Formats: sequence, structure tokens, C-alpha cells
Amino acid sequence: MNPKILQTQNVTVSFDGFKALNNLNFSMDVGELRVVIGPNGAGKTTFIDVITGKVKPTEGKVIFKGKNIRSFQEHEIIRMGIGRKFQTPRIYLNLTASENLELSANRNKNIFSTLFVTSKKTDKYKIQGLLETIGLTSKANIKSAFLSHGEKQRLEIGMLVAQSPDLLLVDEPVAGLTDEETYNVAQLLLMLAESHSILVIEHDMEFVREIARKVTVLHEGSVLCEGNIEEVQNDPRVIEVYLGQ
Ligand code: ADP
Repeated sequence: MNPKILQTQNVTVSFDGFKALNNLNFSMDVGELRVVIGPNGAGKTTFIDVITGKVKPTEGKVIFKGKNIRSFQEHEIIRMGIGRKFQTPRIYLNLTASENLELSANRNKNIFSTLFVTSKKTDKYKIQGLLETIGLTSKANIKSAFLSHGEKQRLEIGMLVAQSPDLLLVDEPVAGLTDEETYNVAQLLLMLAESHSILVIEHDMEFVREIARKVTVLHEGSVLCEGNIEEVQNDPRVIEVYLGQ
């Protein structure tokens, strides 16, 4: 059996008696790229909020790298290696792409690694490598305010990677992007998936088709079905919940 990066076991989240997540069982392997889809109100955001510790489950376990993190604080979970990219970019617009990456790379470093382990030179190569990965080498020194929406999304994914998390959570990375920008983000995530565990929440089915190997469909706070994109798309239960929107 492959080692698991993340599992939720019987996770329920109740808001005043309403179950946003209802006995949710989910599991993904180390190194996997997983996409979670589901109609509005299915519980996708609550799912991510539970993983990152923003929302505490009413019941159940959240297991990351074999450890139950259910009662951990958000900052402890980040330190353990879960990085989240929000739907709207949270970059510093008055800083350059390069400066934003540098800031992110240093954000989670402890004082010892800052003083002794990494050198400025290592950092510089790391930033250059990241800029290349996200396709922004030529725009490294431009203020981020002047980047396109798609470039900002890629920069923020780069900022996430700069923090070297063990699991990348990516929330709707292509919302509002053009087809070309969507394609670029898809290629970037596919490239990163070669060396990272990635969990993506997304609505855009074209994009899901482009990147997904395994898809989990949420509905009413539980897993409705799982499988590859063809299996999921042809599942009558999935067709019904999407058509019912
Ligand atoms: P999705 O991201 O799939 O659209 P959400 O996780 O945002 O779904 O929401 C799932 C359900 O839980 C929705 O019906 C939503 O109204 C409800 N919900 C989410 N957060 C809260 C909250 N803080 N208080 C009450 N209900 C909430």
C-alpha cells in the first residue's frame, strides 16, 4: 500500500446543526495530484478549511503524514508542511515577482536555518529556479501589480512552492482566467506534480480534464464518487447532482 499524505476519517463539520461535511472519508497518496470537484455548497471550501485547521471538525480525524492534526492550530499545520493557495491572489503588488518569492521562501524558515544553513547564494538559485518553473523569468523585476491575472496566479503558486510544503492545497486556480492562462496553470501544476503532493479544488471542467488523474466528487458534505475523469463524468449520480444545480 502506498504511504498516505492525507486522510480524513469520518469527518463531520456542523454549523448550528447543519452538516457542511458529513462523515467524510478521504485519502490521498504521497506524490498524488488529486482534484476535488462538486456543485456549489458541496463542502469543498469547508474541506480545505478543515485540513488547514481554520475550521475544527465536530467529529472525526484529519491525518497528515500519519499524525492526527485535528486539534492543531493553523500556524502549526503550516509548519508541519501544508501550504494553501487561496482563490484570490495574496501577493504584494508593490513588490516584484522575485521579491514576493523571496519573502515567501523566508516566511517559514526558523532562525537556525536563516543563520546557518541556507546561504544567500542558495536562495538566489532557488528563486531563479522558481521563476523559471512558473514562467516569469522575463518579468522577475516588474512590480507584481503589472502582471496579468494568470501571471499572478502562477506567481502565487510559485510562492506556495517557495515555502517547500509537503502538501500543496490549491483553491480554484483558474477562476476568471483566459483559455491560454488556464492552459499555462495546468501545465505548471502538472510539472509540479512530478515532485509534489497536490490537492486542487476546481469548478472548471476543461481544466479538470487537463490535469486530473484521479477525481473526488463531493456532494452534501460526503464523497459521492471517485475515479478517473471518464469514470466520474459518466457516473449517473454525478450527472444528476450537476444537472440539478
Ligand atoms: P462549496 O465550497 O462546495 O461551495 P462550502 O464548504 O462553502 O461549499 O459550504 C458547504 C455548506 O456549508 C453550504 O451549504 C454552506 O452554506 C454551509 N456553510 C459553510 N460555512 C458555513 C458557516 N460558517 N456557517 C453556516 N453554514 C456554513
